[in-house]
Amino acid sequence: MAKVVVTLKDLENGNIDTYEEDYKYDEEGCEFMWSEGNFACDCNRHAFMYGNEEEYPCNVGANRFVVLEVLYDGKKLEGHYNNG
Ligand SMILES: [Zn+2]
Repeated sequence: MAKVVVTLKDLENGNIDTYEEDYKYDEEGCEFMWSEGNFACDCNRHAFMYGNEEEYPCNVGANRFVVLEVLYDGKKLEGHYNNG
């Protein structure tokens, strides 16, 4: 199990927050998840920042929520996490 800490920024209001999870996949899996997988999408990033109560539309193009940093057990993962 790895500790993953992701710093997200909401470009609409400038809010910055971190999302933490215990991740059971390897570094590559983590990188994929945030660059091309489910967590590349604003709907999930919105949920990480503000909870699940308010739904956010899926795949609307450029990211409103950008990833500033992905740490995998303290190691910074380089990836293309943001569209647009
Ligand atoms: Zn989505």
